[in-house]
Formats: sequence, structure tokens, C-alpha cells
Amino acid sequence: MSNIVAGKIAFVTGAGSGIGKATCRILAREGAKVIATDKNLKAAEQTTSFLEGSGHLALELDVSELGNVESTFKKCQQHFSKPPTIIVNSAGITRDNFLLKISEEDFDEVLKVNLKGTFCTVRTAANAMIEAGVSEGGSIINLSSIIGKIGNIGQCNYSASKAGVVALTRTAAMEFGKFGIRVNAVLPATIETPMIACVPDKVKEMFIGMIPLKRMGKPEEVAEVIAFLASERSSYVNGASIEVTGGL
Ligand code: NAD
Repeated sequence: MSNIVAGKIAFVTGAGSGIGKATCRILAREGAKVIATDKNLKAAEQTTSFLEGSGHLALELDVSELGNVESTFKKCQQHFSKPPTIIVNSAGITRDNFLLKISEEDFDEVLKVNLKGTFCTVRTAANAMIEAGVSEGGSIINLSSIIGKIGNIGQCNYSASKAGVVALTRTAAMEFGKFGIRVNAVLPATIETPMIACVPDKVKEMFIGMIPLKRMGKPEEVAEVIAFLASERSSYVNGASIEVTGGL
């Protein structure tokens, strides 16, 4: 079987951990050159250090500032002499608290990273692809969450941000279709990554009880779906929200 993203350049945010890191691994296995970006540069460098193939790049990037995203894209374009055409928005945070108690700061911060951060990357990436004339076959994959659809106690900020990511994805798919850029969202449930390390065991067990497959997912199980969406094998999938939840 041939590599499904051979010769493509892939830009991944939140690449230093969890789903972003697994996505870098699978896209590299499938033949892409990977630009691993993260707020934590050391973690991004660690990701690229064990990727298959050569010519990968690790960069520091805070997705929540548009200017920061734009200058990082310029660096990528200079390095590879063309912009990436696979974009995976995996950077994300939680600041959980009950709606009656949550601070304005914690509400804003989650929206700023998860929703505005996705906007910043989507806008910058699409502009770069269109300007360079390489948009045909472009694929953007945004990490939403099943929580954006069903809500969750203690996650009013997170659930709202992830519902926003689905709406942004649908709109971007409508606006970018004429340029040949597909935009899709992936909605995982409980995936074993550092993000859920702080979730109490009791809550994790409650979720596992509700999942028909009776286990948490692995980051690679989300990354395989992302790689499919990044590739031409999903060439008519656009504006979709793909659940990766074990059936939750
Ligand atoms: P993680 O915490 O393991 O990794 C997130 C990465 O994002 C970290 O490396 C972190 O440094 C980086 N990051 C945080 N703020 C950033 C910023 N402002 N700019 C750039 N990078 C930043 O999380 P994960 O579990 O791999 O989650 C990845 C994505 O998947 C997130 O968007 C998350 O909301 C979503 N998701 C995760 C789960 C799950 O159960 N783990 C479920 C549904 C959706």
C-alpha cells in the first residue's frame, strides 16, 4: 500500500503532546514532511526527533495570536519554498469549573486558544495556500470534541469553544471549496493523553461506562482518522464532523 500523503507538507499545532504528537507520527509514516508546532518548543522538538523520514521542522507557536501564526507561516514558507497544504489544529486547553463559579479569565482563555487559535491558523493557512497557488487538494482538520455536541458538567467554556470549532469548520468549508481546500472537524471522546490526566478516576470510569467499546481511545486512533482526512482518499469529504468516540 502506498503512503497516503507522500510528498505533502503538513503543519500541526499542539504537536508536542497527545493527539498532535500522534498525528505527526502517522503523517510522517505516510510520507509527509511535518512542521510540528507547539507553545512548548522543547516538546515539539522531541516530537520531530523520533519521526520517520527526514526534513521535518519544529517551531514554537502560540496559536492564539494572529500575528504570531502569520510570522510562523512565513518561516515555513521560506524553509520549504512553499506553504503547507495539510493543516491540523490540535492545540487546545481546558480550564474546568462550574458555570456558576468559573472566572471570566478562565472562560476567555479557553475560547482564545481553542476557538480563536483555530481561526488564526485556518485563516493564515488558507491565505498562504491561495496566494502561492497550491490550494487545490489542501486539507484542514480541526480538533473539536464530542463535548461540543453534548455538553459536559464543568466544561461550559470548553464545550462552547468546541461547538464554535464545528461552526467555523462548516463556514470555512463553504468559503474555501471553490479554492479546492477541504475543511473537516474531528470530534473525539475520551482519549488517553496528558489533557485528561487531571480528570478524576471516578469521572473517567463514568465516561468509560457510557462508551459502547468500554475503553478510552488512544491518540493514534484519532490520528489515523486525521491522516485519512488529510489524504486524497477522503477527497469528497468536506465540512464534516467525524466522531471518534468508541460509540459514545
Ligand atoms: P494535550 O494537552 O496532550 O496537548 C495539547 C498541546 O497543545 C500541548 O502540547 C500544549 O503545549 C499545546 N498548546 C496549549 N496551548 C497552546 C497554544 N496557545 N498554542 C500552541 N500550542 C498550545 O491535549 P490532547 O489530548 O492531545 O488534545 C488535542 C486536541 O484534541 C485539543 O484540541 C483537545 O481539545 C482535543 N480533544 C482531546 C480529547 C481527549 O480526550 N484527550 C477529546 C476531545 C478533543
